[in-house]
Amino acid sequence: MFNLILFGPPGSGKGTQSDRLVEKYGLVHLSTGNLLRSEIAEKTPLGIEAKNFMDKGQLVPDEVVIGMIDNCLELHREAKGFLFDGFPRTANQAKALDRLLELKKTAIHSVLALDVSEEELVKRLLERGKTSGRSDDTNESVIRNRFSVYQNETAPVAEHYKALHKFKAIPGEGSVEDISNALSTQIDKVLERQREEQEAFD
Ligand code: ADP
Repeated sequence: MFNLILFGPPGSGKGTQSDRLVEKYGLVHLSTGNLLRSEIAEKTPLGIEAKNFMDKGQLVPDEVVIGMIDNCLELHREAKGFLFDGFPRTANQAKALDRLLELKKTAIHSVLALDVSEEELVKRLLERGKTSGRSDDTNESVIRNRFSVYQNETAPVAEHYKALHKFKAIPGEGSVEDISNALSTQIDKVLERQREEQEAFD
């Protein structure tokens, strides 16, 4: 299996790059943001609860998103691997993910972070807000709040994976094509290493 986390602040391009990577590597895309938005669209109790947090730029409680991820992992037992996008977003979520994957005799193999300046992020999010229909992208104070949540709660998740030597930052400004090539180069390296280890084991 190959399990990847695409990491980075709101607006760093995780969604765009995820679409390309899942296609290229045959992974299942798990975006907690997308999963939550479809719960909201269907007006489920979970969606109604989540919307209150999301509209303010706050995180949805850990139990809710961890439960969603657990369900999705169960639904895709035959997957070649997963691409986690927007998850884990807290140290607690990262620990829960490690446990869930361990139960499935697998783990996270790589964490790739998209590096983008705050100025560029605000610009992109406000631009996206004009067409995305996402209420959390139209208000600058909600966007700033998402950044401060990212700094305080999500950035520490990087430390967790740095300590495990699984973390690599990639410049996230430039053309979509160049960024996706840089991500692919890194993924190919990790896959190659995985193949060598497997051969040595066989
Ligand atoms: P972005 O990265 O652009 O903020 P997302 O679609 O990933 O967009 O997330 C939108 C919102 O959904 C977040 O601001 C948060 O409220 C909620 N959310 C998404 N993923 C998580 C998560 N793993 N934990 C808690 N809340 C989440």
